[in-house]
Amino acid sequence: MTIPRTIRMHENDNVAIVVNTGGLPAGTVFPDGLTLATRVPEGHKVALVDIAQGAPIVRYDVTIGHALQPIARGTWVEESLVGMPAARGLDDLPGPVRGRAPLAPLEGHTFEGFRNPDGSVGTRNILAISETVQCVSGVVAFAVQRIKQELLPKYPNVDDVVAIEHTYGCGVAIDAPGAEIPIRTLRNIAKNPNFGGRVMLVSLGCEKLQPARMFPPGAIPIGSGEQPDTVCLQDAAHVGFGDMIASIMRTAEQHLAELDKRRRETVPASELVVGVQCGGSDAFSGVTANPAVGFASDLLVRAGAAVMFSETTEVRDGIAQLTARAADDAVAQAMIREMAWYDAYLKRGGVDRSANTTPGNKKGGLANITEKAMGSIIKSGTAPIAGVLAPGEKLQQKGLIYAATPASDFICGTLQLAAGMNLHVFTTGRGTPYGLAAVPVVKVATRDDLARRWHDLMDINAGRIATGDATIADVGWELFHFLLDVASGRKKTWAEHWRLHNALTLFNPAPVT
Ligand code: CA
Repeated sequence: MTIPRTIRMHENDNVAIVVNTGGLPAGTVFPDGLTLATRVPEGHKVALVDIAQGAPIVRYDVTIGHALQPIARGTWVEESLVGMPAARGLDDLPGPVRGRAPLAPLEGHTFEGFRNPDGSVGTRNILAISETVQCVSGVVAFAVQRIKQELLPKYPNVDDVVAIEHTYGCGVAIDAPGAEIPIRTLRNIAKNPNFGGRVMLVSLGCEKLQPARMFPPGAIPIGSGEQPDTVCLQDAAHVGFGDMIASIMRTAEQHLAELDKRRRETVPASELVVGVQCGGSDAFSGVTANPAVGFASDLLVRAGAAVMFSETTEVRDGIAQLTARAADDAVAQAMIREMAWYDAYLKRGGVDRSANTTPGNKKGGLANITEKAMGSIIKSGTAPIAGVLAPGEKLQQKGLIYAATPASDFICGTLQLAAGMNLHVFTTGRGTPYGLAAVPVVKVATRDDLARRWHDLMDINAGRIATGDATIADVGWELFHFLLDVASGRKKTWAEHWRLHNALTLFNPAPVT
């Protein structure tokens, strides 16, 4: 029989979560004498003391809610008993803590990557075909299929051919405030380090997002071709569909020949640009996988790399912790600016941050967005926040970065791709087969049971932390080394192995027409 186990995150907490697979029945006696008065499902909270009506419910040393009725010691603290706290105002937030000792440098770690003309480094060698507008997507998809069959085998150093399909480009209020977000996202995705620097573009001809607007002069770095190689389907030279396909294939072959000359070379770990996010979270996310990712994030920052954390609705409740961790006042102000922008965006839609949580989150033991947020921001580790990116902007610095994005897995991944990530880390408790075509996605399971059932989808099992079979540091180091192996092409993620690719999804806060 397995020993009943709970995990309490902080000594000030008055709740803990039940670890045992399948939960525990009423009458269960824990080694410390606590007896369950009710059944408590796996990952859900049990009251460690009697909690009076209106008293705070504390997890992570943070008030995650107030008791809506008296909760006796040993009782399941189910969602209906937890009143959600109001969001912290954005005034009078703490400023950066001064005089903190910097994290010790971590030397000597390298990977094998593809160096680009602009100095960035790719972890894969991919021909990306950008599109100005959805109208061309069917044609590009047709061409990509033929390129893969007929051309790609001739260029063995090229890993893949990927169409950057999206639903933007026309039928949109292209001059509206906010429209710059999807436009710069598309521009910056084309410059992702995994695509080698040169840009190939397919345009329709009459669309609102004209090639010159997508790539204005100076948008592409010197040495990378400076202007995209553009195939325009409405070009008078094209007579029939066959001509369009031939034209796309001809341009693609020139790019494949260039990409094929690329070779991996040994580069320092500081060339990694890692985007972290979570999806399908449960109460273990903040106990196992996210702390392990936070540990690895610190290792990466210490090695000089860039790490982006995101998901505005999931950090909003932790804003006071984050402004205190800002490297300077300008970073703290930029964090507040992004939170305020998002508050206004949600308000315009008639909702607030509480719209974030899903039925699966709640089934997994997360009572509300406050509790979810505390578990989510642990992914960012302990490093000072060195910079802030608005949605769709390209990253220009190293260190820990807050890249402001929605928490939607696909939109967050798309915006981190635009920021220039060359590796993606994704934690999940409920389980999701998420993957992207443009960048390897390393998936970290929060629970043993998920890692066991999804053994050929999850790359790292952080559930061993809950069962006591591994420490946060053990899994953090395992993830760090796995990232270097995946970056080098020595190992593939399960999502790459099965070619599981989710659609890129643009964040367009502006109206459509
Ligand atoms: Ca997410």
